Amino acid sequence: EERPVSPVRATEDAGEASLRPQTLSDFIGQEGNRQNLAIFIEAARARGEALDHVLLHGPPGLGKTTLAQIVARELGVGFRATSGPVIQKSGDLAAILTNLQPRDVLFIDEIHRLQPAIEEVLYPAMEDFQLDLVIGEGPAARSLRIDLPPFTLVGATTRSGLLATPLRDRFGIPLRLVLYTPDELRVIVARGARLLGFDLTEDGAHEIARRSRGTPRIAGRLLRRVRDFSAVEGRGQVDRAIADAALTRLEVDHRGLDAMDRRYLRRIAEHHAGGPVGVETLAAALAEARDTLEDVIEPYLIQEGLILRTSRGRMLGEPGWRHLDMVPPPPSPE
Ligand code: ADP
Repeated sequence: EERPVSPVRATEDAGEASLRPQTLSDFIGQEGNRQNLAIFIEAARARGEALDHVLLHGPPGLGKTTLAQIVARELGVGFRATSGPVIQKSGDLAAILTNLQPRDVLFIDEIHRLQPAIEEVLYPAMEDFQLDLVIGEGPAARSLRIDLPPFTLVGATTRSGLLATPLRDRFGIPLRLVLYTPDELRVIVARGARLLGFDLTEDGAHEIARRSRGTPRIAGRLLRRVRDFSAVEGRGQVDRAIADAALTRLEVDHRGLDAMDRRYLRRIAEHHAGGPVGVETLAAALAEARDTLEDVIEPYLIQEGLILRTSRGRMLGEPGWRHLDMVPPPPSPE
């Protein structure tokens, strides 16, 4: 079953497109990044040049795809989207690159999952707008150089550390997206309710916002679930009590944690006396991939101080113990 609080895009998020902000000024939060992008876009437009390559990194669901689309729209250029795992052969990438129009934006999601051989094709394309292709095999092989139109690559990745250094170095504009504040999410939720045409009170929006783990994708999903719940119950206006009842039924607790998060916290508390415990050990015990823990589950728990990331592993923080209604064991005598 899909977790309602997973930030990863799921089939149920098809309705997401309707909530996408279309312009930089509609895009809420990420203030510093937004201001910088506005300036770089303005300058590129004024010079009539392609914008420098942009690397967006941050946990899933924070608006990387949305921002890439906005950049293209604000530049007044075309938008092409693909993703690292989809590009199987260097010919696939060559086909995409040779079909770009001058100054187009090419968005590559999960760019850290590109195969190394394909990354090699990307380097001269990014740096000199040139494509070096090898045609044929063995002694008959010839290399061919093709000029590409100048374009902007917007790459997205969950952690910039996953990227090979030579690739990372070729992005002139690296931007780190951070989890949203409850206030920013409240504005996003209220805007979403308006777009979906349903009546949500201010404190109803606040309740959904503070249970959305700092993530607009989750906020949008919880909003749609609350709407369905209230429609079935035959309510008109949705206030805090109705939102709370719907979210509690989804097993999303008052802090936005679900059963999986609580299992993670309890594991550290009960099996490791609060830690430190290595992430690999936790991943094995919880039967989750290490990447899932690091990209999907931990960012919010860390931000909230529920867990701490130390050089010796994960530790339960004070708020983590409180969330479990447990007290930390007394320090063992050394
Ligand atoms: P990512 O590519 O980082 O996984 P997306 O760009 O697909 O995230 O965004 C996920 C959802 O959250 C989309 O429906 C988008 O409309 C919404 N969203 C993201 N950022 C914002 C924002 N700043 N304001 C309003 N909605 C947002």
